[in-house]
Amino acid sequence: MNKTFFNLIQDVQKEGRCHHCGGCVTFCSAINYGALELDDDGKPRFGTIEKCIECGLCYPICPETNELNQEIRENMGWEAPFGKMIGVSVSRARDEKIWEKGTDGGSVTAILTHLLDTGRINGAIVSKNTEQGRVPFLATTSQELVESAGSCFNHSHGMTQLSEAYTTFSPSIKALGKLRAEMPGRIAFVGTPCQINAMRKMQALGIVPSDSIDYCFGLFCSGNFSFDSKAFKLIEEKYQFEYADVEKINIKETFIFSLASGRQIEVPLDDLRDLKRGACEFCRDFSAEYADISFGGLGAEQGWTTAITRTPTGKAVMALAMEKVLTPWQHREDIKAITHAENKVISACKEKEQRAKQHARTNEIGDVRFAL
Ligand SMILES: Cc1cc2nc3c(=O)[nH]c(=O)nc-3n(C[C@H](O)[C@H](O)[C@H](O)COP(=O)(O)OP(=O)(O)OC[C@H]3O[C@@H](n4cnc5c(N)ncnc54)[C@H](O)[C@@H]3O)c2cc1C
Ligand code: SF4
Ligand code: SF4
Ligand code: SF4
Repeated sequence: MNKTFFNLIQDVQKEGRCHHCGGCVTFCSAINYGALELDDDGKPRFGTIEKCIECGLCYPICPETNELNQEIRENMGWEAPFGKMIGVSVSRARDEKIWEKGTDGGSVTAILTHLLDTGRINGAIVSKNTEQGRVPFLATTSQELVESAGSCFNHSHGMTQLSEAYTTFSPSIKALGKLRAEMPGRIAFVGTPCQINAMRKMQALGIVPSDSIDYCFGLFCSGNFSFDSKAFKLIEEKYQFEYADVEKINIKETFIFSLASGRQIEVPLDDLRDLKRGACEFCRDFSAEYADISFGGLGAEQGWTTAITRTPTGKAVMALAMEKVLTPWQHREDIKAITHAENKVISACKEKEQRAKQHARTNEIGDVRFAL
C-alpha cells in the first residue's frame, strides 16, 4: 500500500521535521481537488482527506523521508561521507557589480549570468528579498539574476524588511508549481541542501517541471533563521549596533552583519538557535551533497566564495566560469588556501551530522532519518 500524506503527518510533521518546503502540496496529484492545503504558517495539512487518491507521491517527494535516497545516490555517484567532491575552489566574480552585490564572492551569480549570456540556460530559479521575505522567482535576464544576488537590503522600503521580519527562508520548491507553465526548459535551480534533495527526488520520479532543470547549484546551510522585531531588538542591544546600518548579512561559522561603516558584527550561530527553524536541527546535510556545484562562504576570506564541484556537469561549468567570469583565489595553485577551505567544510559537515544525530537522540526518535 502506498504511503500517503497521512504517513507524512506521522513520520515527518509529528516528529518536528517538516520545514515547510511545500513540495508535498505543490505536487500532490489531487491538489486541484483540494486534497492538501497550507495553513496560515505555511504548514501543509489535509484540505479534504476524502479527495486524496492515495497515489503515494507526496511521501517519497518529501526531503525528510528516506525514500529514493538510494536511487539518488546512485544517480549522483554519491560517495561517503559527504558526497562526491571532484574539486574544491575559492573564487569571486570578476564583474565588480556582481561582486559587490554578491553574498560572498558573487560566484553563483557570475556563473548564472554567464550560463544565460552564452545561451546554455534560459533562466534560473533564484530568490530575492522583498518586504514579504525572500521570494523565489524565475529570472530570465542578467539584470534579474544580479537583483537576486546577496542579502543586501533596500533601505528605501524603510526598516520593515529588517526590523519586522527577515528570513533566510525561500520557498523555492513551492515556486516550481507556479512556474510549471512558464518554464521554457534549460533552467538552473539554486537552493539549500534540502531543496536540492527535493529536486533530485522529483527528477528521479520524472515529475514535471524537474525535467527542465539542467543545473542544480546548492548553498552550504547551517539552517534557516527567521527574525522578528523582538529578536532584532535583543541582538541590537547585545551586540551594540543599529540595523539601519546593516548593508549585508552572511552566514559562515557565525552570522555576520556588515555595517555601512565597514564594521562587522559576528554573532555566534548558537546565540541565534531560538530563531532557527526547529526542523533544521534534524538536518545532516551542510554542503548540498546532491548538487552539481555547492557554494558557501565558509573557509574563504570575506568577499570570496568556496565551491565544491560534484558532477561532470558541475566541473565543466566551473572550468568555463574560471576561464571567463571568475577570479580564482590569488593563485589557483595556493593549495594551502584550498585545503583550508576544504577542511573547514568537512568539519562543518561533521559537526552538523553530529548535531543532527544528537538532536534525534534527545528527541527520542528511534528510526533516525536525516534530510538525506
Ligand atoms: C539559509 C542559508 C543558510 C546558509 N548557511 C551558510 C553557512 O552556514 N555557511 C556558509 O558558508 N554559507 C552558507 N550559506 C550560503 C551563503 O550565504 C551564500 O549563498 C553562498 O556563499 C554563495 O555566495 P555567492 O556570493 O557566490 O552567491 P550570490 O552571487 O550572492 O548568489 C546567491 C544565490 O542564492 C540565491 N538564494 C539566496 N537565498 C536563498 C534561499 N534561501 N533559497 C534559495 N536560494 C537562495 C540567490 O537568489 C542567488 O541566486 C547559506 C545560505 C542560505 C540561503
Ligand atoms: S493524492 Fe497523492 S500526493 Fe496528494 S495527498 Fe494523497 S497521496 Fe499525497
Ligand atoms: S518537509 Fe516539505 S514535503 Fe515534507 S511534509 Fe514538510 S512541506 Fe511537505
Ligand atoms: S538546515 Fe537542512 S532543512 Fe534546514 S534549510 Fe538547511 S538544508 Fe534545509
